[in-house]
Amino acid sequence: MAGIPVLDRIRLMIEPHEQVIICCWDQCRIGLSNDLSQVNHHLRNKYSLPSDDRRAATSLLRSRIPTINNADSILFRKDGSEIYPYLWVYDGFVCSYYIFRTISKSTISRYITDVHRQKMFELRVRTDEMYIPI
Ligand SMILES: [Zn+2]
Repeated sequence: MAGIPVLDRIRLMIEPHEQVIICCWDQCRIGLSNDLSQVNHHLRNKYSLPSDDRRAATSLLRSRIPTINNADSILFRKDGSEIYPYLWVYDGFVCSYYIFRTISKSTISRYITDVHRQKMFELRVRTDEMYIPI
């Protein structure tokens, strides 16, 4: 990762553009909250990291908190963006008529039948013809 040694050791990084903490463990690869108690909880419960490592990381992160964003508050990256190696790439579905998107096929199907039922009848199409895989 070649970032900050304290964070590298516990496989965290601060994404330089969005200023978000990313958990880089292979099974995780997600953006974390900027609430350090939640970061500490994540590291303790998911990876059983020693308290010294967690304390060193949260101390370093605390000094940067004013510029670190909460992962939930940043915008989704655009479709087709360059793949970022520390985050998952999801396949998903987008509604053909609105900007609704999801990674769940059952959610897009339910959305289409709830919101676009009339349009489906008018067009005489099936649910899966009302969204696009992305
Ligand atoms: Zn994690």
